[in-house]
Amino acid sequence: MATPIPSRQLFINGEWREPVLKKRIPIINPATEETIGDIPAATAEDVELAVDAARKALARNKGKDWASASGAVRAKCLRAIAAKVTERKSELAKLESTDCGKPLEEAAWDIDDVAGCFEYYADLAEALDAKQKAPVSLPMENFKSYVLREPIGVVGLITPWNYPMLMAVWKVAPALAAGCAAILKPSELASVTCLELADICKEVGLPAGVLNILTGLGPEAGSPLTSHPHVDKIAFTGSSVTGSKIMTAAAQMLKPVTLELGGKSPIVVFEDVDLDKAAEWTLFGCFWTNGQICSATSRLIVHESIEAEFLDKLVKWAKNIKVSDPFEEGCRLGPLVSGGQYEKILKFISNAKIEGATILYGGARPQHLKKGFFVEPTIITDITTSMEIWREEVFGPVLCVKTFSTEDEAIELANDTHYGLGAAVISNDLERCDRVSKSFQAGVVWINCSQPCFCQAPWGGKKRSGFGRELGEWGLDNYLSVKQVTQYV
Ligand code: NAD
Repeated sequence: MATPIPSRQLFINGEWREPVLKKRIPIINPATEETIGDIPAATAEDVELAVDAARKALARNKGKDWASASGAVRAKCLRAIAAKVTERKSELAKLESTDCGKPLEEAAWDIDDVAGCFEYYADLAEALDAKQKAPVSLPMENFKSYVLREPIGVVGLITPWNYPMLMAVWKVAPALAAGCAAILKPSELASVTCLELADICKEVGLPAGVLNILTGLGPEAGSPLTSHPHVDKIAFTGSSVTGSKIMTAAAQMLKPVTLELGGKSPIVVFEDVDLDKAAEWTLFGCFWTNGQICSATSRLIVHESIEAEFLDKLVKWAKNIKVSDPFEEGCRLGPLVSGGQYEKILKFISNAKIEGATILYGGARPQHLKKGFFVEPTIITDITTSMEIWREEVFGPVLCVKTFSTEDEAIELANDTHYGLGAAVISNDLERCDRVSKSFQAGVVWINCSQPCFCQAPWGGKKRSGFGRELGEWGLDNYLSVKQVTQYV
């Protein structure tokens, strides 16, 4: 069912370019474990070429370069990219499903969001023109002051595999809207649609060097990008472990970073809920995208009075989740992205058993699937807060359950984590929902739902889930530098 993968090179200075060391990385179809193509593997030599191209894109004849073009000019380009993404939606969704195992229907939603994100930042690029030279009110009449909002310069964008194209575009779209030149380093586990984005940029005539795309391994392509002296900022989405390495490397040059990292988000279900609706959001919040969501609400904290009935429902419904090849009609859970992730998730589950937890449902490869990196939707109970399965990000279809008796206890359990990305509360009492929302230590809170995400609203974490905000106006600010100009009159 997989779709053929186009053979591509690195995208540097508006051209396809073979990696200097001619290395390539195989692409494994996670649903079949077959090798279905390969991607180019960039190294420090290619990073050098891409940085040079990006710098030149910002230094071309002043007034004609990307940075000093008007927001309206940049917006036109972003809208053309959005239109091409929409035109190629079906093909891109198939490529993404083949590459990372996401159910085809979900991949198609993501491609819609990619186009929407370009459209949204096209609007903000246009609006930026009117915001230039905004006057500052000063207390002395013989001085006047205004503010310029300028692109930061050349930015390195390093992204993960769980939403391969969308996570990249959350950075590419605002960076380009701001007037930066970018070098994107997508994950080696799912880069195919990012290379198609290069093809689209070439087709719509994005000026050479404005967006360069280097596929390759983190230590070989991401690391030299992070430490390059002519890269002015790093925006990173990925694990907290890699985020820490990136921050350490960037600190050597006092380079600014934005970090969108891992999570272990709670969903608190109170006793007054409609059990069907609550069960629906609980399962969606944990098992969507094959459970590989940074903000997955993977810790269910449920009121003790409804525990038995709620868990019965969850198990009954989990049994109906169709686990299959992502191209099959009705697929709700595809394979995990790689053999490495598959082994890691099964290890988490077996460690939980050793520590004394109960696997209420799932916990293994589905019997009907002999090949592919499939893991059943898994529900685990009898957990203590010191267990690894409660504390560490699993990044797979695993839901941990604990009960509470009072609101204070629920909040304490919810915040008992070194992560702080998302948190959800389900209750019919909206005053209580507001109170709980304020108490959550998280950057994103959902009331009576879990996971909806809009490119207009800020996204980001607290604690070890990172800092800085993507999306909305905050996303654009990541790539802008504010300059004060004061005149003596
Ligand atoms: P990862 O940290 O392994 O890799 C992310 C990216 O960093 C990849 O492109 C990788 O090649 C690169 N990389 C690895 N080592 C590097 C190094 N030393 N220097 C520079 N780059 C390096 O993460 P992953 O497994 O690809 O993604 C899963 C993680 O991403 C999870 O922890 C998930 O929670 C997180 N995530 C967070 C968000 C968010 O919005 N907060 C969104 C999606 C995913």
